[in-house]
Amino acid sequence: MTQLTRRQMLATAAVATLAPMGHMPAHGAAPLIGKQAPSYYRYNVGSYEVTVISDGARSWPLDIVRNATKEDVSTALAAAYLDKEKVTFPYVPIVVNIGSKLVVIDPGLGPTLYEQSKGAVGQFHTNLAAAGIDRNAVDTVIISHFHADHVNGLLTADSNLAFPNAEILVPAPEWNFWWDDGNMSKAPAGSLLETNFKNNRRVFGTLGNRLTHYEPGKELLPGITSVATPGHTPGHVSHVIASGSDKVFVQADVTLLPALFVRNPGWRPMFDFDAEMAEQTHQRSVGKLYRGSRGHAETATALAESTPPEAGVCNALSVTFHLRS
Ligand SMILES: [Zn+2]
Repeated sequence: MTQLTRRQMLATAAVATLAPMGHMPAHGAAPLIGKQAPSYYRYNVGSYEVTVISDGARSWPLDIVRNATKEDVSTALAAAYLDKEKVTFPYVPIVVNIGSKLVVIDPGLGPTLYEQSKGAVGQFHTNLAAAGIDRNAVDTVIISHFHADHVNGLLTADSNLAFPNAEILVPAPEWNFWWDDGNMSKAPAGSLLETNFKNNRRVFGTLGNRLTHYEPGKELLPGITSVATPGHTPGHVSHVIASGSDKVFVQADVTLLPALFVRNPGWRPMFDFDAEMAEQTHQRSVGKLYRGSRGHAETATALAESTPPEAGVCNALSVTFHLRS
């Protein structure tokens, strides 16, 4: 007699249970799952560990570029093998473990938007947990600028502190602009600008004395230095993370989608507060990162087409640029 393993015996028993009337077990009735697997990606900067966490993605119409035709935007998207019918921005906060501290840079759109968007955005908190990171263990949250996709994740769905043990660092120039009643009074009624003023009052009003203001140009934590990159918002900052001989430039919204705005550095997205200043910042940042023998256009093409090592690395997941030394 053939010896049956325990697994074979269980399988035989299951078939016997499921097919008492001579039918084969039915397949194909499984419910649709309707969502992606948790998404995150890790890389090292010297001895630091960076975890890029997906907060989801949102699509916009082709006319979000103020000074380009929809046809030109569509062509640029197609050239990068992206959906040419719409512009899709991934939202990608990062976590940096510098050894002595666990640091979040920009906590995404938050769980309220997760519910409102049916899970399309605001995934940061759940994907953070899936990546094995406890919100309670976060020591510091650094904010780059005061747009909802960078600050709303400071709160839970019931408006409590999402990072209850963390100090929250906000750029002083950004705070000074958005907390100014005179500036707020100039925002047209019903505009996105007015919505953003109100959103910032709501979020930061809840956080109270948990906030510390910082000036651009300062080393905020060992190896994490802020850099003034105004234009997208009045007090927008980026951050350089450095450890050993490695560096990355975490540029927040200096370059929204490399396939469009690195390849076409003169294109101006409608999201920028001061388009002229944002373009200057963008040109300066990209130029600084990729100065050398390569011209800007060549660099932009290289970036958009998966950059060769000598020109640095464009990490599409984090829109983060590795600085070449
Ligand atoms: Zn922004």
